[in-house]
Parts: sequence; C-alpha cells; structure tokens
Amino acid sequence: MRKKVKEVLLQPLLIYPEKLPLALTSLSIHWFFNAFEDLLPDLMTFDSGKSVIHGKRLSDFQIIFVSLSYAANLINFVKMVKEGGIPLLKRERDKGMYPVFICGGTAAMLNPLPLTEIFDAVFVGEGECMEKDMKKILNMDSREELDSFLSSLSYCYNDIKPSADIVRAENGQFFVHSNKTLHKMGNTFDNRLIVELNRSCTSRCKFCAATYLYETFRVPEKERVMEYVDTAVSDGKGLALMGTSLGSIDYFDEILEKAAQKSVSISISSIKVKEINEKRLKLLKKCGVKTITVAIESGIPATRKAILKDISDSEILTALKMIKDMKFKSKLYFIAGLPGTEAVEEAQSVVDLLLFIKNNGGLGETSISVAPFVPKPLTPYRDFDIVNRKEYKKYMEILKKGVSKISSGIKIDFYPYRESELDAKFGFYQGEAFIKLITENI
Ligand code: SF4
Repeated sequence: MRKKVKEVLLQPLLIYPEKLPLALTSLSIHWFFNAFEDLLPDLMTFDSGKSVIHGKRLSDFQIIFVSLSYAANLINFVKMVKEGGIPLLKRERDKGMYPVFICGGTAAMLNPLPLTEIFDAVFVGEGECMEKDMKKILNMDSREELDSFLSSLSYCYNDIKPSADIVRAENGQFFVHSNKTLHKMGNTFDNRLIVELNRSCTSRCKFCAATYLYETFRVPEKERVMEYVDTAVSDGKGLALMGTSLGSIDYFDEILEKAAQKSVSISISSIKVKEINEKRLKLLKKCGVKTITVAIESGIPATRKAILKDISDSEILTALKMIKDMKFKSKLYFIAGLPGTEAVEEAQSVVDLLLFIKNNGGLGETSISVAPFVPKPLTPYRDFDIVNRKEYKKYMEILKKGVSKISSGIKIDFYPYRESELDAKFGFYQGEAFIKLITENI
C-alpha cells in the first residue's frame, strides 16, 4: 500500500456520485453511516469537491467505497476521479500510489464484470452481509493481505476472480433508517426521516430488476421499525416510507395510524393499485399525502397480464375513483415499447384507458410519466431490445395528441431516451466496449 494504513485516514469514505441532495435520499448512504458510525465515516458526492464531513480529498483516503445505483452514477464517478488526477483504469493505477476503490450498489450487481476494469473490487449484494468484512478491510496492513482477503470473499469480483454470488440479508435482519449526522443536512423528502420497509417485491413484473435481483420479499423486524416510528411520531418528525410493496407489509397500516393520530407527515414512493383502499387513503390524507402514484405500465389488459402486472381496467378505475373522490392528485406510470407490443396501439390504449376512466367519473387531477422499455439483466426480458427511438417518438406523439383531447390539464413527462439507451448499454456491455461507452459519455 502507498503508506502504512495507520498513517493515513482511517475514516471510511463512501462516494455516492450524485448531487448531495439526491445522495442524501439514498438508503445505501444511511446504511453506511449507521454501520460505520464508530469510525467517523465520510461522504463524497459528485458536487461536494472535498469530503462532506471532514473536508478531505480523494487522495487522503486509503480505501474508498463507491455506491452505484444507475449508469449515470458511473459517468459522474469517472469525472470525479479524473478531476482528482487519478487514472480511471485499474491497470493504470500503480498499486500503492492510489486509493483502493471498491464498488457496490444495484448497478454493480446488474453488470459487475466490466467494472473490474475500473474498480479494484466489485461487491455484489446487500451491505449487511459485508459489514464485518468491510471493517476488516479498513484495517489491513498491506496490499498483498488486502488482495488475498478480497479474493476470498464469495461476493467479490476482481481481476483474478471473475465470478461471485450475490449475498442478501435474511428476512428481519436489516433495518435501514436515516442517519442522524446525514439527516441534519436535509433531503429531498422535505427532511422527513427515511425508513426502508421492504426489499424485493411481492410482484414479479417481467421487466423489473427489483424482484429478480433481490429475490425473496423481505421486511425489517416489526419491533425495530415501530420503535423508530414511535420516536419519530412523538418528536413530530415526518417519515418517508421506502419500499416497493408497502401495502403488503402487515404493519403498514399501523404505521399510518400512528402517524395519522398525531398528524405527522408521511411520504410514500408509490402504492399498488390492488393495495389502495378507502381506509388507507383516509390515513394518508391525515398524514398530509397529496399525490398517489400508481404504476399501470400499459393501457392494454393483455399486455399487463403478459408482463405479470395483472390489474384489470375496472380495478384501475375503482382505485382512481377513490383517489379522485378523496381529493388526491394521481400520478400514473407507463412504459413505452414493452416486448411484444406495438407503439401506436400501446399509446392509443393509454388514451382509451384515460377516456374510460374519465367517462366513469375517475379522472381527477392527474399527471402521466412514461419511460422507454429498457431490458435489465437477470429479468425474463433481458434478451429483448430497448424500444427503438422512432417507436418511442411515435408513442409520445400519439399519447400527447390523444391526451390533449381528453383534458388540457394532464401533464405528461417522458423519460429522456438518451439516458435510457445508456442504461440499456450499461447493463450488458462488456470489456473494451463498456469502457468506451463510459469514456464517450463523460
Ligand atoms: S415494477 Fe413495481 S410492482 Fe412490479 S416487480 Fe417492480 S417494484 Fe414490484
């Protein structure tokens, strides 16, 4: 190693290559800070320049952990190391001259191998299963010892170990919540306390990595969550509940009831159509929720069935009627270009569905968000292509035109095609093609 470990900073550093406000909403950062609290952890973000807590530079650290959630994170990371005067490729970094970079996160789990060109090690899995090893790593005395230890880890990829197993925490064996130090810096949830309520998902939508990557649906231990909720509620602090299947958690309603009793504000990422009911909406109303987000994905029932999101038009209508009647706004998610679909027909089906909802009294204040279909590794749809640009454009035109005839008040957001294309390539490219993709997009 470049210096004896004891001579350099022992504080563990996590890089989250996004702007600070967004980074502060990431569960991985809060987990890291809680897990390493005794070691005075530090954070560097895309826009922080020096580290956020101790004001140090990249080169001040011996071991650096990097969390990658999306393709764009890696592009930002590359910019950061360039600015820090550190060569991007591992083979160009003389051992001992530069920090050791270890990455993890969802994006790393989806396509780990090409990342071994850049990182000294790539960890695949959930932090709870790595915590003890990460602490050992911070205390190693030589690079040889570190390399040999890394190669012994079942969940680690490096240049001499091209295979690894994803490790996942057991049900009830994780509990991620806001870290006190980070919480003081705010977050994009109006500074509510963040609580993770589940991993994986109770559904298995064929395009989505959440369930195929994280496998079994798991929740934290109820007692720990409720204790945290009780404290937050008695302190009058809001809660941001994070999870893919909130309505399937058997203590979800209890959390809402506790918060509602004290009018504590709650935010939720989304809720499934089948999990919406009047009682929940009433509680959410009392907790200050203004918008209910639901993912519908396609206007055609057969397409929804094919992707394993089996919700009927009438179930969608019932849910949206309740949302409208209780004066919430709704936000609806759709995907353009799902395998086996045709753009014109799909876009028209969304228009028809909205018309059906409107004609049956279910269309309130609504906005729509559309993303191009992007194949994800490990999912049943991994071998399909991203929707092509022309088809996406066609979908956009038909949807915009159709929706404008239904109501002038429906706002539509389209996820940028370029970013989706990058995501699709990032998930599958290997070797030189991967490195070229990254360097061309800096
Ligand atoms: S799309 Fe949503 S509901 Fe479907 S598997 Fe993914 S997280 Fe679950």
